[in-house]
Amino acid sequence: MKYYSTNGQASPASLEEAVIGGLAGDRGLYMPERIPALDPAVIRSLKDKSFHEIADLVAQAFFGEDMERDALTAIVQDALSFDTPVVPVSDSVYSLELFHGPTLAFKDVGARFMARMLGYFIRRRGIDREVNVLVATSGDTGSAVANGFLGIPHIRVFVLYPAGKVSPIQECQFTTLGQNITALEIDGTFDDCQALVKAAFADDDLNRHMQLTSANSINVARFLPQSFYYFHAWAQLDRLGRAGNLTVCVPSGNFGNLTAGLFAQRMGLPVRHFIAANNRNDVFLEYLQTGLYTPRPSVETLASAMDVGHPSNFARILDLYGHDHAVVRQHISGCRYTDEQIAATVREVCHTHRYLLDPHGACGYQALVDRGLQPGETGLFLETAHPAKFKETVDRITGIPVEIPQKLRAFMQGKKQSVPLGKDFEGFKSYLSTLGLQTNK
Ligand SMILES: *Cc1c(COP(=O)(O)O)cnc(C)c1O
Repeated sequence: MKYYSTNGQASPASLEEAVIGGLAGDRGLYMPERIPALDPAVIRSLKDKSFHEIADLVAQAFFGEDMERDALTAIVQDALSFDTPVVPVSDSVYSLELFHGPTLAFKDVGARFMARMLGYFIRRRGIDREVNVLVATSGDTGSAVANGFLGIPHIRVFVLYPAGKVSPIQECQFTTLGQNITALEIDGTFDDCQALVKAAFADDDLNRHMQLTSANSINVARFLPQSFYYFHAWAQLDRLGRAGNLTVCVPSGNFGNLTAGLFAQRMGLPVRHFIAANNRNDVFLEYLQTGLYTPRPSVETLASAMDVGHPSNFARILDLYGHDHAVVRQHISGCRYTDEQIAATVREVCHTHRYLLDPHGACGYQALVDRGLQPGETGLFLETAHPAKFKETVDRITGIPVEIPQKLRAFMQGKKQSVPLGKDFEGFKSYLSTLGLQTNK
C-alpha cells in the first residue's frame, strides 16, 4: 500500500519510507491511499477475540501487504503487553482505560508499536547509519516514546521538552533513562519544541548529516495502531450488550488519538458519533463552529498534554472528509472546558461515582454528560492517563492523595540527565550537527 502526503506535492511513499521518513518531503502528513474495510461479520465476531487477536486483525488489514505476517504479529504481541479495559463510571458512561502501560498513558501503545516497526524496517533495509528520532513533548509523549524506544538498536531518540512546563513526575520518565535516550530541555513552550522539530526536518543540511525521523503522532506507525483499542473497546461493550448506539469522546491535543478513531469508524467500526473534548486550547472547536481554522500559541491548562495551539493531525481530519466542513461536523462535535470546570468534574465524579479521573479524562467524561445521552445510548470516553501522572493537580482538587503506582515510583528514583538548549533553531542545529558528525566517523 502507498501513502500519499496531505499536501499533495511529494510522491507517494511505501510504508517503509513513510515510517522511516516521518513527515512527507513536502512537509505534509502521510495518509494510506486506501482504508481497508472489515467485513460486518468480522466486526460481530470481535467480542469473542482477545486484544492481541483484534489488534493483529486490524494490523494485518493495514500493514499486511508491506511486511511479513509473522513479523507483524510479533510486533503486535510485543507492543501490546498490557490491557485496555472498559470500566463503567455511571449507568450509561464507560471509561476506556488506556493507562495500564509502562508510562501509564495511552501513548505507550503507539510508541511501543512504532519503535518495533521502525526497528524492523531499519533491519530490513540493512543498517548503514543510525536513525535519529526527534520528538517534541508537553509531557506524556516524551515518556512514552523514550520508554518505547529504550534499548532498540540503531535508533537514537532526542526528546525536546519545555523547561519547567512538565510535571516532575513526567520529567523523570524521560530524563532518567540514559542509553539511547537524550532529553533536551528547551527554554520555551511546547509549540517552540514542535517548531524546532519541524524546522529540523525541513533543513537539507541537517538531513544530509543525519537520518532524522519523528515519533510524534504525525508518524503513521505511531497514530494508526491507536485504532486497535477502539475495536477492542467496542468488543468489550458488545459483550455487555452496550455497543449498539455508541458515542465516543476523545480528549484531544494533537488529534492523533481521535484521528485513529475516525479511521476505525471508516474501517467499519459502528461508532455513531465522535466528540473532541478540548481544554481552553480550542482551535478545533472554533473550526467546527465557524469553518475557520486559526492556529495560535497554546495556553497552559490543568490538562497539559492537550495544550496544543496548532494540532498536527488536523490536516488528516480535513483530508479524510475531503475538506468539507459540513461533513466534518456530521462526524465530530466539540466542546471546551476551563480549568475550573475540569476541577469540578474530577471532584464530582470522585465523590458521586467513586471513580478518579485525570484532568484529560475529565474533559472527555464531562463532554458526554453535557451532550445528554438518550436512553439506550452508550457514551465511552478515553481515559488517556492515570491520575497519578498528574498527582499535584489531582491531589489539590480532591483533597485525597492519589497513590503512586509502583511503575511510576521506580522512575522517580532515577537521576535526571538533560541538555539545556535555547528555542532558536541555529543552536539546536549546531548541537545536532556535532553529534551527526561524530556518529558518521
Ligand atoms: C497526548 C495526550 C492527549 C492528547 O492526545 P492527541 O492524540 O495528541 O490528541 C490527551 N491526554 C493525555 C493524557 C495525553 O498524554
